[in-house]
Amino acid sequence: MTPLEFDQHHLWHPYTNVAKPGPTFRVSEAEGVHITLDDGTKLIDAMSSWWCMLHGHRNPYITQAIHDQVDKLPHVMFGGLTHDAAIDLGRTLLDITPTSMQRIFYCDSGSVAVEVAMKMAVQYQHSIGQPQRSKFLTIRSGYHGDTWKAMSVCDPVTGMHHLFQGALSIQHFVPKPPVQLGDDWPEDESHNGLAELRQTLEANQDIAAFVLEPIVQGTGGMYFYHPEYLNAARQLCDEHGVLLIFDEIATGFGRTGKLFATDFTNIEPDILCLGKALTGGHISFACTMTNDRVANGIGNGKPGIFMHGPTFMANPIACAAAKASLELLGQNNWQAQTQQIESQMAEELAPANDLPNVAQVRTLGGIAVIEMDHVVSADQAHGLAKETGVYLRPFGTKIYTMPPFISTPDDLSQISAAMLRLAKEL
Ligand SMILES: *Cc1c(COP(=O)(O)O)cnc(C)c1O
Repeated sequence: MTPLEFDQHHLWHPYTNVAKPGPTFRVSEAEGVHITLDDGTKLIDAMSSWWCMLHGHRNPYITQAIHDQVDKLPHVMFGGLTHDAAIDLGRTLLDITPTSMQRIFYCDSGSVAVEVAMKMAVQYQHSIGQPQRSKFLTIRSGYHGDTWKAMSVCDPVTGMHHLFQGALSIQHFVPKPPVQLGDDWPEDESHNGLAELRQTLEANQDIAAFVLEPIVQGTGGMYFYHPEYLNAARQLCDEHGVLLIFDEIATGFGRTGKLFATDFTNIEPDILCLGKALTGGHISFACTMTNDRVANGIGNGKPGIFMHGPTFMANPIACAAAKASLELLGQNNWQAQTQQIESQMAEELAPANDLPNVAQVRTLGGIAVIEMDHVVSADQAHGLAKETGVYLRPFGTKIYTMPPFISTPDDLSQISAAMLRLAKEL
């Protein structure tokens, strides 16, 4: 068996059918914006490897931090023990996140960060004498990960909830916020989505928290919505004793053109999930942050302990990588980089508006989307990658890029040309 045959016969890939595995490239190495395939072809990674690789692949500053940490302390349990990598990263996170976020729970992946956030909300409600508040409210078209509780608040249609009936918790859903970012905010609640939100909060006394992706819904639709929805949601949650959880796993660390999507609003969440780009994409890591109210609410209730503690909690290598990535973010001009991506992609993708099957073109910070009026085949896009020199992986009706921040204007032009070609041919 060749290596690729072995892969096809024995390895499971994300969201694939083992009976009909799609085409797969074998990557031998990666550097900067490029991944190199086994036949020597170099492709621009316009996905930033699922939105993580902010400073490019194999960033020397991050890999050095990883090497230094491996030589000192690759891992140690976090029960009863701590280490400088966790403490130093914690200081940096506290400096850059919303000021009320004071308590950090380190974990291994985004989905686990969401599980932890949801558990925090339920335990908080239990501690303050509201044990009936054990369900969640969310907006449609969301995506929060693939573990059970995270899945239960993903969009019921794209998340294929019908497959898991009986196994999956039933949550409360309201429509996605109808007003797009940049549009005028109508005060009439029947036009801005707040009527449904208010009504659902009033009618249901079993909601522990409202969980959503602020400003940008990622995997659920690459949809950008109005911050006023979040400002109002904060107030409604407070009025009804419901916590507010922001899942910034996709939006965090500059991707939207602001350091966090929360920065578009004038409010702060009770619980914040971070992941994906946390380590600059170099190793899996995530965290859940919360305010003193929630942390102390749990701590002062019964049983007081928070019921979660992964084996690899606060892994020192991941902490060191994250610290290095955040230092780069602090030095690098991420604002200028994301502005460049936004303005150049908006200009170069504008011709897509004249193509027959294009529904909308939109850009925000380091995100650019051509939304088609039909589903685009990721396998067909895969087939064009070697011709365009750009790796794109469309999902649903969206052809999109979230390029590494270090992409040059030439890299970006190559990406926009590839996106236009996909929009024309697929
Ligand atoms: C990717 C993502 C997750 C899940 O993160 P994993 O690391 O894949 O478990 C959760 N929420 C959002 C918004 C995401 O984009």
